[in-house]
Amino acid sequence: MADANAAAPAKAAAPKKAKKAGPYKPASKFCPKCGARMAAHADRFACGRCNYTEWKSAGGKGK
Ligand SMILES: [Zn+2]
Repeated sequence: MADANAAAPAKAAAPKKAKKAGPYKPASKFCPKCGARMAAHADRFACGRCNYTEWKSAGGKGK
């Protein structure tokens, strides 16, 4: 029997250009009202189901 393992498959070096650099990191937040996943915006979370909006700057830090 001949050796079929003679030719090694050439490894194609694919350039990895999967950079995920956004202005904000995707945070997982769920709507306290309907439980749907809220969309993370730069300064707020918005629910696409019930239109509930939660601002990120909802703290005691004034501008
Ligand atoms: Zn909601």
